[in-house]
Amino acid sequence: LRKELIDSEKMKVASIISASVAHEIRNPLTAVRGFIQLLAAANVSADKKQMYSKVCLDELDRAQQIITDYLCLARPHPDVIEHLSLKEEIIYVSSVLVSYANLKGVELQVQLEENAYVTGDRQKFRQSIINLVKNGIEAMDFGGKLVVSLEKQSEDISLIITDSGKGMTLEQINRLGTPYFSTKDKGTGLGTMVAFSIIKSMMGKIKVESQLGKGTVYKITFPAVAQTKAI
Ligand code: ADP
Ligand code: MG
Repeated sequence: LRKELIDSEKMKVASIISASVAHEIRNPLTAVRGFIQLLAAANVSADKKQMYSKVCLDELDRAQQIITDYLCLARPHPDVIEHLSLKEEIIYVSSVLVSYANLKGVELQVQLEENAYVTGDRQKFRQSIINLVKNGIEAMDFGGKLVVSLEKQSEDISLIITDSGKGMTLEQINRLGTPYFSTKDKGTGLGTMVAFSIIKSMMGKIKVESQLGKGTVYKITFPAVAQTKAI
């Protein structure tokens, strides 16, 4: 299964979503507030208390997850556009995610014989790659291997993320990058939307190949820049 995923329709949605994410975070907070009021009532049974507490914790986790997936786009600061060493950034991302991978029984491997530079905002770029690698890790319920590698072409550089996870149907691949599409219990459906819009803003192209039960390959191709070139 193969598809060019970036198209401007999906990306328009990204700006609409900025507004609605604030709303998405407000919902769980409102719920938590209500349940804390219930908890404070005098005649609450132990059972109910436990139930209310669990709802509060779940809702707070949800708010936190939305913020985690979305963090960089919601940042108030303007972008700082720099030349980014893909090698350095991948090393950074893997250091952030290695313990999460271990926890899920996933071996995280980086293959960085080559390097190249791309242009973009460092925090946003990190967020986009973290969101995609995290999805790869989460696709492997029974452990597996996730590889991040670089592949140089004449003018371009590709960052390739390969997992040995559950894979996707064509229908699922088509929905990647659209807000709130999630097959996970506690998914936000914002991770790929955020990642794709960041990559698009960096002139990146995304290709996804996936096979059910075998795994998924994300190939993200950027125009490479000479490090010395002025921004
Ligand atoms: P979330 O991770 O919160 O569900 P995302 O936008 O990050 O939201 O991902 C959307 C959905 O795309 C996931 O729920 C999953 O079904 C699918 N998906 C994304 N990446 C992969 C992958 N590497 N392998 C299998 N499914 C994936
Ligand atoms: Mg995700």
